[in-house]
Amino acid sequence: MVTVEEAERIIQSQTTHVGVEQVPFEQALGRVLAQDLRTDRALPPYDRVTMDGIAFRFNSFARGTRSFQMAGTQAAGDAPLEITQENACVEIMTGAALPASVDTVVRYEDLEIENGVATVLVEQVKKGQNVHRQGQDKQQNEVVALTNQLVTPALVGMAAAVGATELPVKKLPKVLVISTGDELVEVHQTPAPYQIRRSNSYLVKAALQAYQVEPDLLHLPDDLATTKDQLQRCLAQYEVILLSGGISMGKFDYVPQVLEELQVQKLFQKVRQKPGKPFWFGRHGNGALVFALPGNPVSTFLCLNRYFLPWLHASLGLPAKQKVSAALTTDFRFPPDLTYFLQVRLQYSEQGQLLATPLEGNGSGDFSNLVEADAFLELPQERDRFEKGDVLRVWPFKAGW
Ligand code: AMP
Ligand code: MG
Repeated sequence: MVTVEEAERIIQSQTTHVGVEQVPFEQALGRVLAQDLRTDRALPPYDRVTMDGIAFRFNSFARGTRSFQMAGTQAAGDAPLEITQENACVEIMTGAALPASVDTVVRYEDLEIENGVATVLVEQVKKGQNVHRQGQDKQQNEVVALTNQLVTPALVGMAAAVGATELPVKKLPKVLVISTGDELVEVHQTPAPYQIRRSNSYLVKAALQAYQVEPDLLHLPDDLATTKDQLQRCLAQYEVILLSGGISMGKFDYVPQVLEELQVQKLFQKVRQKPGKPFWFGRHGNGALVFALPGNPVSTFLCLNRYFLPWLHASLGLPAKQKVSAALTTDFRFPPDLTYFLQVRLQYSEQGQLLATPLEGNGSGDFSNLVEADAFLELPQERDRFEKGDVLRVWPFKAGW
């Protein structure tokens, strides 16, 4: 039996990099960049006009010219006009490339236009105003996003801007989610009074979607020979196997025995925690990792959030998440010598402090409660009593937290 911290350390020592692949930039959202993204041209690529109005030489204005002959009109997307006369101007629109012969833009609101002559009505004009200079944001070939950055909507937009039609991203591990148990039927089936539906696989699959991982699903009966046969086959095909159930003390809990017979090296069995105590973790000689989680859905979900998702996060090279802590809003007692993961509701106090309110329902096994809860609050093993105001680590699992 290991502590929560030992289990975490052992799992984090097994991070796996499965390689890099190119994906169309439109499909890269939620993936992790495997190479720095650079500009193909300066940003902006030309002196970009930022106001609709006129453009002229500042020198003419400085020498006292206020009325400018309008030599032509340039819309965004037009090639820059060439004007030669000293006191002429170009009527110009936002997004247009500033012609080389002019340097300053005055907006329509500060002009009077009559008979093809624009008169500047304001005295406050600065050289170069209303122009977003070429290369002001980024130079050509400058880094705009770093390796290991998560691809966000803004990054997809940036990839589009620099013409990166394909992005190199981290490959995702091939994951198999296995449920076990003779009492479980498929979701579309009608369970007998003594049966339940398989929910764990879908719970796990849904949680993995946040990382764009699409696992395969498999169900195994509580049968020694089938379990061995199937696991042997799967160990050769997947980089990660996430099992739920079949690892406790029951007469038909064959999973640990079979894994060891199949040369999966046990890295730990049992964690000093509730829920999720029977958790078994190991590594096959070919590198495949096996996370065998207890079947109780709350246990499965806790182990997934506390151990597996952080492992996946680190394996993809994402920067470590900031630790989140919250203050308990009521006293809480948990005497057993185990770390307790308490289901909580999160909210901010008016002072901006994160608060955690226990949402116990019927205790750690109450699955229906997970739908309402926002997070697990980690109550360390060394303590029995937790008091209102104690600030403790929290593991949010709901989007938005
Ligand atoms: P086990 O770890 O196999 O002893 O299962 C512990 C409890 O979790 C039992 O009540 C099982 O019926 C339940 N359970 C196991 N697997 C699943 C599953 N895939 N979906 C829902 N409940 C499950
Ligand atoms: Mg079972």
